[in-house]
Amino acid sequence: LLEMSHVKKKFGDLEVLKDISVTVEEGQVLAIIGPSGSGKSTLLRCATMLETMDDGEMYYLGEQAAKSEGGKAVYAKQAELRRMQGYYGLVFQNFNLFPHFSVLKNVMDAPVHVQKRDKAEVEKQARGLLDKMGLGDKADAYPYQLSGGQQQRVSIARALAMNPKILFFDEPTSALDPELTGEILKVIRDLAAEHMTMVIVTHEMNFARNVADHIIFMEHGVIAEQGTPEELFNSGNQRMREFLGKFE
Ligand code: ATP
Ligand code: MG
Repeated sequence: LLEMSHVKKKFGDLEVLKDISVTVEEGQVLAIIGPSGSGKSTLLRCATMLETMDDGEMYYLGEQAAKSEGGKAVYAKQAELRRMQGYYGLVFQNFNLFPHFSVLKNVMDAPVHVQKRDKAEVEKQARGLLDKMGLGDKADAYPYQLSGGQQQRVSIARALAMNPKILFFDEPTSALDPELTGEILKVIRDLAAEHMTMVIVTHEMNFARNVADHIIFMEHGVIAEQGTPEELFNSGNQRMREFLGKFE
């Protein structure tokens, strides 16, 4: 579904991604863990084209979003990139809902205005997604009237309303109080059970261990270790052990 190879990214003199390669297969749940500043968000931002890679290649569903030419990433044409942007959705740490839109309108906005889909059909889907998120009675509420966990569920519904083939999450629970974290993790776990393809940057180690098919441990802009949860959590990698030790 997604293939990124030899991705490099610098901010000034700081090499944030140093030759990173990642493949995400259909139905796979990939967790990305690692210390603060290791480049996790930057990798996600490159994957979702919020940031441009300096060098590297990227393919969505076999379509080339960027190729490496003469040591530089060369992106496909705007129209092609826009089509590929329809393949994925993104859920942020801070929800990023439109404060002046109702919950329903937040979910419907992009499908109607970006995807130009039929409004009645989108509304039906949006209400169904809100029901699924346990927010059926909140369609007319505004974001400020909701808890952080509810707001995050709205933003997941909003991402799903675009019918993405792959969903990216950047620390979806880190802005939430601990008692609200569980409800979001449950939603993601339910999506995994439905074989939604997902890439999740998280500091929730137990969650990564239980839900991910594959885990990438990043450190200083490189993939220091990767494998199945079992392989990773039993790894003898010293840095990885130290990192995990912080969560015990
Ligand atoms: P965290 O766990 O704290 O979210 P992270 O692994 O997501 O960390 P990144 O946000 O990818 O880390 O940042 C990696 C490095 O790149 C950091 O040193 C950060 O300061 C730097 N960085 C990120 N974005 C920019 C930017 N737009 N301009 C300059 N430096 C940046
Ligand atoms: Mg980050």
